[in-house]
Amino acid sequence: MSKQRRTLLKVIVLGDAGVGKTSLMDRYVYNRFSDHYKATIGADFMTRELQIEDRVVTLQIWDTAGQERFQSLGVAFYRGADCCVLVYDVNVSKSFDNLHNWHNEFISQACLGDPKKFPFVVMGNKVDVNGGSSRVISERKAREWLASKGNIAFFETSAKENYNVEEAFRCVAQTALLSEPNLHDIYLPPTVEAVEEQTRSSCQC
Ligand code: GDP
Ligand code: MG
Repeated sequence: MSKQRRTLLKVIVLGDAGVGKTSLMDRYVYNRFSDHYKATIGADFMTRELQIEDRVVTLQIWDTAGQERFQSLGVAFYRGADCCVLVYDVNVSKSFDNLHNWHNEFISQACLGDPKKFPFVVMGNKVDVNGGSSRVISERKAREWLASKGNIAFFETSAKENYNVEEAFRCVAQTALLSEPNLHDIYLPPTVEAVEEQTRSSCQC
């Protein structure tokens, strides 16, 4: 009897306040976008399932409020993470400079076995703003930084125009699956329900 392989992946999204973390998640999970800025308070997650080869992958994507101090989120928040998404705004230089800090903080808090092997995905968001004319971080500059950190996947995105969002999160799932150690496989044989039903009906009480 074939078993469906199911995998739960914990994904942490980090970056400065206002870069579009919540918007990217909203676009990916609910395919919606709002121009109104609503600061995220604390941390929460959204989930979406996707199929990658023979696996059903559930992405559990954790949102954070960027302005919060890492310490207040606690080590438990990062523990068991399978991928870390770092987001900056291509129109805001400071948000790009801060990637370095978010990257370091994640590594120091997440209790990683080998930080060099841990999958990160970087998203340079809001490429749509003013048709791209207010951009201050070029793709080349971003790629230079990424190269200095090892092999980090990179996407320029627009949550507003739904540009590259699907592709970027698919890559999150794929890179997490490739780095085996943290996988949480849940095997669900298709017979589970039937067996339970049988047990119940044969119960004498
Ligand atoms: P967060 O603090 O990182 O979670 O950022 P939000 O997702 O709350 O977004 C901050 C603001 O930027 C909101 O007003 C969003 O509507 C806007 N925003 C987010 N993504 C984009 C985008 O791709 N393009 C444009 N033009 N605005 C965006
Ligand atoms: Mg937010």
